[in-house]
Amino acid sequence: MLTIEKAAWDVMVAHAEATYPNECCGVMLGKGKTVTRAKALDNTYEGAQEDRYEIRPEDLLAADREARKDGLDIVGIFHSHPDCAAYFSKTDLENSCPWYSFVVLSILKGKFDNAGSFLPNAEQTEAPEEELIWPKS
Ligand SMILES: [Zn+2]
Repeated sequence: MLTIEKAAWDVMVAHAEATYPNECCGVMLGKGKTVTRAKALDNTYEGAQEDRYEIRPEDLLAADREARKDGLDIVGIFHSHPDCAAYFSKTDLENSCPWYSFVVLSILKGKFDNAGSFLPNAEQTEAPEEELIWPKS
C-alpha cells in the first residue's frame, strides 16, 4: 500500500493538469511507503509527449540528493496518462525499475480522474497494482 499526503498529491495533480495534453513526470519523496513531497520534473522525451515520458538521469540524481539531505528517500516515480486510463503500459513496464512504486494519474479532458500505483518486478515482465491512498478533496 502506498499513501500520498496532501501537499505531495496537490503538486502531482497540478503538474499533470498543467502539462495536459502531454504526459508529465516527477518523483515522489518520503519515508517507507508514505509520500510526503513530490517534485515535478521535465518530460525530456523528444517525440510526441502525449503518450510517452522520459526523465533525465541527472534530475533523478538531484532529487535523490535533495531527499537524502532532508532524511527522505525516493519512494517512486509518477507520470500522467492524458485521456487514457491509469494503467501500466508495456512501455511503462519496459522503462521501469523494481525498487520504486510507479503512480499513474489519469487526466481526462485536462482534469484529474483516477490514479493507480504499480510495482514492477525485477524481470520487467509484470507490474502488479498496489493499493493507493490519496487525499480525496
Ligand atoms: Zn504510462
